[in-house]
Amino acid sequence: MNDSIRPTFRFAPSPNGLLHLGHARSALINDAMARASGGRLLLRIEDIDAARCRPEYEAAILEDLAWLGLAWEAPVRRQSEHMADYRAALERLAGMGLVYASFESRGAIRRAVAERPGWPRDPDEAPLFPFSRATMSEEERARRQAAGEPYALRLDMKRAAALAGPLDWREIGWPESGETTVAADPLAWGDVVIARKEMLTSYHLAVVVDDALQGVTHVVRGADLRAATSVHRLLQSLLGLPAPFYTHHGLLLDGEGRKLSKSIGSQSLRALREGGMTPDEVRRLADVCPGGAGSRSG
Ligand code: GLU
Repeated sequence: MNDSIRPTFRFAPSPNGLLHLGHARSALINDAMARASGGRLLLRIEDIDAARCRPEYEAAILEDLAWLGLAWEAPVRRQSEHMADYRAALERLAGMGLVYASFESRGAIRRAVAERPGWPRDPDEAPLFPFSRATMSEEERARRQAAGEPYALRLDMKRAAALAGPLDWREIGWPESGETTVAADPLAWGDVVIARKEMLTSYHLAVVVDDALQGVTHVVRGADLRAATSVHRLLQSLLGLPAPFYTHHGLLLDGEGRKLSKSIGSQSLRALREGGMTPDEVRRLADVCPGGAGSRSG
């Protein structure tokens, strides 16, 4: 099959820690879906946050995925090497009048929210931005930006959502592969940060630019990123990028019902492997067994 028409999947970890079982599950489901559809599997290293990402974690990711038996196409895309692509997208959005620089500190935002009991929160439980674009003139924003003050670049969500009109995405299930249409709700996020003075992109912006540039047709990731897809669909629409299919698979939970994460010290693949676990045992624990539902149909 010609690469340009083959389904294209990607696994996109951030090298800010060791992979755990939840990552293995996501990578294995991507691999299983790619195999079942005769598709390609790409690997992307999401390392825009230089303060938290480290080359030794990237090396560990490659090694752990190879140990699991996964293979991906070269080259691996490393986000830190493509800042010009994100900058071009940001400039395009700014050129459409959809971006403004905000100068409120985290402390000022916290205090404003504390004064407003019941202030709405975004799908990740963070309070919506409690100020608005109208609080300062564009001239004043430009002056403070030029003076070197720290700022966040925010998407003017109401204007952006109005410009894009109603949006949805096609969700493919896992392990059952039924397709549903999901309505996007970007307004639930308020004026999201899409770049900062010290980092001229954000996860949201980089991910949609990369998925398009890499020709990704199927985004397969955990259900914790499902709500973010509303922002991604909005950015794709504004930037004229194609909409991939999405699968937001169920997450593995720990004994206390929390999703696995580095911050709660979930056991790394590295530790499981050093404890003598085999890749097949990891597949079973990750609930993606060879020959199991929807996996490795070949
Ligand atoms: N880099 C993100 C993470 O490690 C995943 C992004 C995505 O799959 O869209 O959580």
